[in-house]
Amino acid sequence: MGYLKTTKPNTLKRGKAFYASAALPAALAARAALAVLLSAVLFTLACVGEKPLVPGGNIVSVDTPAPSAADGGGASTPEPTPEPTPALYSLVRIENSKLSDGMQVLVNYNHSYAHTSAVEQLVRPVEKSRELLLAKADAALLDEVLTALQAFAEGFYEVTGGDRLLVTSAFRTEQYQRELYDDYVKQHGEEMARIYVADPGSSEHHTGYAVDLSTMSKDGLRIPLIEHEHFDWVNAHCADHGFILRYPVGSEEVTRVAYEPWHFRYLGRTHAAACTALKMVYEEYIEHLKVYTIESGMLRVELSEGGAEVSVAEINALPSSGRLIYFVPASEGDETMLPIPAGCNDYSVSGNNEDGFIVTVSLGGE
Ligand SMILES: [Zn+2]
Repeated sequence: MGYLKTTKPNTLKRGKAFYASAALPAALAARAALAVLLSAVLFTLACVGEKPLVPGGNIVSVDTPAPSAADGGGASTPEPTPEPTPALYSLVRIENSKLSDGMQVLVNYNHSYAHTSAVEQLVRPVEKSRELLLAKADAALLDEVLTALQAFAEGFYEVTGGDRLLVTSAFRTEQYQRELYDDYVKQHGEEMARIYVADPGSSEHHTGYAVDLSTMSKDGLRIPLIEHEHFDWVNAHCADHGFILRYPVGSEEVTRVAYEPWHFRYLGRTHAAACTALKMVYEEYIEHLKVYTIESGMLRVELSEGGAEVSVAEINALPSSGRLIYFVPASEGDETMLPIPAGCNDYSVSGNNEDGFIVTVSLGGE
């Protein structure tokens, strides 16, 4: 993987069909009113910011103070005590040093990756199986990627009647990426290396979430994925297993990487399905997620057999199923308070490796 030189500025494609559901525009229209309501809540939160934290949870709750007698202005008939307004969300503290860490980090020509050495301690060898083969014995990936890749390979094996996915490259250290780059320069020259091999520190392979795949037929013939008759199946079903084809055809101006029909990035099933449903390449997706906040409306993803339905969910009318995705811009200073919808304890957080955090909440029902 490398970065294409382009004479055009690196602007993201705006105005393309972002929405896969007709419900989105209507839901977006309701945001302004909700934002007013939430700014009142946020103001209240600011006022109670010094409340003691819940032990072990770092969670701030919102209480409405009961009115005192003085509030009544001397009225002789006591007002009934109003029910406390339930908090719409609680706040969880996260260090801003985590901005560059997590499953959804963007790693590309202008977003290098800072945790390669730490990932090297976490990755585990890819195990050869009936459905999954290795071009080199030392391939390694993070645990969740290994599990998803095996399931992906089982699907491929089944649909092809016995062909296998073949791992040609997985986790890479910066040193290895340097050797790869230098070798490529020797063989093909500097210009080609810049197109096809990422600079050390800027390869997705440093994250443990990227894998290059080829195929091995049941007759022992190695067939590049793009030449395999089931390449379309692979493209259509990789998101079911949490992967996206990271550098699709025609995306060079955005990714600055040539078409790579072998390079897959693991994002987890929710984000792979959402990115695919929105028909975006990953740079566009990460940028687009910034419009979804807890104040303005969250991206709701409902996974299905054929992919995912996406819509907008409001904090004051949470659906009972699906996943929510939203963005929290990083605060100035060392930490950011992440709002988590009330009652939603099943969530994950990733930095975007740029300017904020992506929160993914499971509402259940799947
Ligand atoms: Zn690759």
